[in-house]
Amino acid sequence: MKTEVAIIGAGPAGSAAAIALSKKGISNVLIDKRRKIGIPVQCAEFVPLNINSYVDLNAVPSLISQEIGFMDVDAGKVIRRVDGKGYILNRDIFDSELASVAVGKGSRLLSGARAYKINPVKNSVEILNVEEKIPDEIYYDYLIIAAGPKPYLDIPQNKTFIYAAQVKTELLKALDSVICYFRAYIPYGYGWLFPKGRLANVGIGIEKSGSYNGGFSLSGSLSRFIEELRAGGLIGTKIIEKTSGLVPVSGLNEITAGNIALCGDSAGLTHPITGAGILSAVISGELAGDYAAESVKKSKNLLSEYKEEIESIFKKPFLTALKKRAELYPKMLDDAGIAENISRLWPSFDEYYKVKS
Ligand SMILES: Cc1cc2nc3c(=O)[nH]c(=O)nc-3n(C[C@H](O)[C@H](O)[C@H](O)COP(=O)(O)OP(=O)(O)OC[C@H]3O[C@@H](n4cnc5c(N)ncnc54)[C@H](O)[C@@H]3O)c2cc1C
Repeated sequence: MKTEVAIIGAGPAGSAAAIALSKKGISNVLIDKRRKIGIPVQCAEFVPLNINSYVDLNAVPSLISQEIGFMDVDAGKVIRRVDGKGYILNRDIFDSELASVAVGKGSRLLSGARAYKINPVKNSVEILNVEEKIPDEIYYDYLIIAAGPKPYLDIPQNKTFIYAAQVKTELLKALDSVICYFRAYIPYGYGWLFPKGRLANVGIGIEKSGSYNGGFSLSGSLSRFIEELRAGGLIGTKIIEKTSGLVPVSGLNEITAGNIALCGDSAGLTHPITGAGILSAVISGELAGDYAAESVKKSKNLLSEYKEEIESIFKKPFLTALKKRAELYPKMLDDAGIAENISRLWPSFDEYYKVKS
């Protein structure tokens, strides 16, 4: 099969790229190993208000589970309320809706198709239909990798990860804020309670490797966190769903390699402290699609401009966050250290509230 642009991954980044390409009349194939786009959900589902500059959430009411007014940062004795307007998504619907919009505009979606080999010389990607095990090869002019956090393919990708585990449980008290918890037993990361109507996404993310984590395991710390929230009367005992996943926290990757552009988690575009990556996936996917489309139209590789634009948006805030991560987390391995350093680690993250220019 031949297409102008092949896209690996139909998460928010890949679908945003496909929409941008189809809007400009460029043929594109969106490849995803999942049979049903958006399922399973491996996410706490919070997006800042500014997502509306890219995806009009109000156009499809079922995309939003609930509105959020604030972010509460709970560091034990210190609790700070910062600006945190946004939404808790129904992430499964969000991802499948974006892919459907792309298809509606002309993208070809191959779901249940795993990309397992890129041939940069032939400009092709080999795929395998996950059910029938039928191989196929897609030839492209440009390739967009939007395959999430794991470095599946031979392209330099994420090096350091937060290991995240989450449960969906009953929320006993209505909340209009997302709460982030800093605890000594959640080293180099944090715990979260994000309300979803009468339910809540409750999870933790920790950096597992290295001696600094004091021997805390992901499952042990999650159980302890859940117990703390239960004891505080915030959540019930019923576990409705469990999920886990990786969050890259090593900062920006290479972004481009010849006629290949990376976006979303594949480009390392999750914030090194908050772990947020949905909005940056959409922003980078849309830009990757735009620049790949212009490259096809002008028969000239313009992906270096994509790289420049991504770096102009994300490089500075991500470098600041990486520096803070390296400097402050080692000082936050006990309660006193958390109380002393939290306001330097976690201010209000202005970059998420900027409006698209
Ligand atoms: C537990 C957890 C909670 C999180 N909570 C939040 C949150 O509240 N807010 C926030 O902003 N961010 C959150 N994140 C991060 C956020 O989920 C990601 O940043 C976001 O999903 C990135 O989008 P993406 O399109 O780059 O990648 P993904 O959403 O990971 O999509 C990648 C797609 O590529 C497909 N794929 C992968 N490999 C292949 C292959 N070889 N062949 C074919 N298809 C492939 C996958 O099936 C997937 O559909 C969280 C992450 C985790 C793990």
